Amino acid sequence: MRKDRKIDRREALKLMAAGSGLAASSLHAATNKSELKGGAHLSHPASHKYARIVIAGGGTAGIIAAARTRRAAPNAEITLISPNTTHLYQPGALFRAAGLMSQSEMVRETASFFPDNVTWLQEKVTGFDPEHNRIETEKSGKLPYDVLIVALGCAYDYGAIEGMDSSMIGKEGILSIYLNDTVKGTAEGAELSGALFEKMKADVVTASKPLEILFCEPDTPVKGKGSGLSLMLLYLDMLQKKGGDKKVRFTYVTPDEVLLDEKMFNHALGKIVKKYPSVEVLYRHRLTKVDAAAKKATLTSGDQTIEKAYDYIHITPPMQAHRLVRESALAVGDGPQKGWMDVDPKTLRHRSYENIFGLGDVIALDYAKSGGAAQHQGIILQDNIAAALEGDRLRYTYDGYTVAPVVTAYGKVMLAEYNREKVQPTFFLDPYTPRKLWWWLQRYFMPWAYFNLLMRGMM
Ligand SMILES: Cc1cc2nc3c(=O)[nH]c(=O)nc-3n(C[C@H](O)[C@H](O)[C@H](O)COP(=O)(O)OP(=O)(O)OC[C@H]3O[C@@H](n4cnc5c(N)ncnc54)[C@H](O)[C@@H]3O)c2cc1C
Repeated sequence: MRKDRKIDRREALKLMAAGSGLAASSLHAATNKSELKGGAHLSHPASHKYARIVIAGGGTAGIIAAARTRRAAPNAEITLISPNTTHLYQPGALFRAAGLMSQSEMVRETASFFPDNVTWLQEKVTGFDPEHNRIETEKSGKLPYDVLIVALGCAYDYGAIEGMDSSMIGKEGILSIYLNDTVKGTAEGAELSGALFEKMKADVVTASKPLEILFCEPDTPVKGKGSGLSLMLLYLDMLQKKGGDKKVRFTYVTPDEVLLDEKMFNHALGKIVKKYPSVEVLYRHRLTKVDAAAKKATLTSGDQTIEKAYDYIHITPPMQAHRLVRESALAVGDGPQKGWMDVDPKTLRHRSYENIFGLGDVIALDYAKSGGAAQHQGIILQDNIAAALEGDRLRYTYDGYTVAPVVTAYGKVMLAEYNREKVQPTFFLDPYTPRKLWWWLQRYFMPWAYFNLLMRGMM
């Protein structure tokens, strides 16, 4: 692991200012909404009504929902259903796969996050029965609720790529930092990719011809957008320091026409990526087949296919909602968002069932799947749950905030924060400039803030 923990006083002061800014901005985001909508209060007062509130899923969004619902409804009986004893800080996978973060920095006991008076059923949800206000569970049978909050995250679909399955990761040059198990709280993909990166570092020194390294993005919505690109630019920088830029050739394969789905950030990133002579971007292509034995990837664009030989390949898997959501009455029935949970993207309330809310990766938003999005959604949820229990109109609306921090080189991060329409920076600094400060924020401050503030509904 690199010893880069030293942080000078100037950086530390900046970071503290940044931290307070982050918390302040979240509150600001919520209060602004009420002002914009002409509301008289800064937030909806808590509802003191009794209600049975069930939360399905205990990852980032579920735990945030528990903390915020506890405040929104102090007299409610809140039950959270989730099997995982260990909670995994998923953004850590990027640093872990480059040997820059330890496993122990990425995990905490799930029990340590529970607010007072929230009952934890440590088991799986197996189905929904929204017509009868009941949720089905593995061990406790059917549980009734007055309000249901769904925060089940998303599932990977490595098998959608011909010749590929998750057991191949870590073998034959196949990397994927995404492979993890949020139920077990493990991050195998980061471990296995990190081990292959060690091999890559050795190969680059001895290689007689440039190593061909592919990074492939899927054509589905993804969580942690920008992670594949970040890993590529981080590896590139670290490998170049070992072997020089003539020894590696990276190809970034994306089905999109852009690197990031916000045009200003896309423009800024495009300019940075162009400066790396050893990087080629293949837009409008996606990985459709892997021949692991021959180390060949089939890339498809419309009805055209090309084959590309590789030494190493990183795969961001296609993603979808878990089957129990996809096959339920809660899912979008058709169109590009088919299978994801069908909520109003502003109020987070289900479009057909008024007493059901959703947040986090499970909901039907094509771009905003991040912990940062779940954080902003949690603020909206708190107010809307209180309003819903009182039978009031839901006044607080989610603006689509998301964050996609992109590592542009070792020690440099571009903090891309945006919403449906425009950039939405938290800090008063030019957001298009990659900064060492954001590297520190992502690598050191955020893991701490995530476990101590965000997961307690305090930012
Ligand atoms: C490699 C990577 C990098 C990332 N980088 C960033 C980043 O830099 N910034 C950022 O903001 N976000 C990042 N993210 C995304 C972020 O981690 C997720 O968006 C966030 O965790 C979503 O929270 P969630 O609660 O919706 O899903 P999860 O946190 O995945 O939680 C889902 C929960 O549902 C539970 N569950 C599953 N099935 C069942 C069931 N049947 N019954 C009950 N419970 C069940 C699981 O145990 C888990 O607790 C990254 C993600 C990855 C993988």
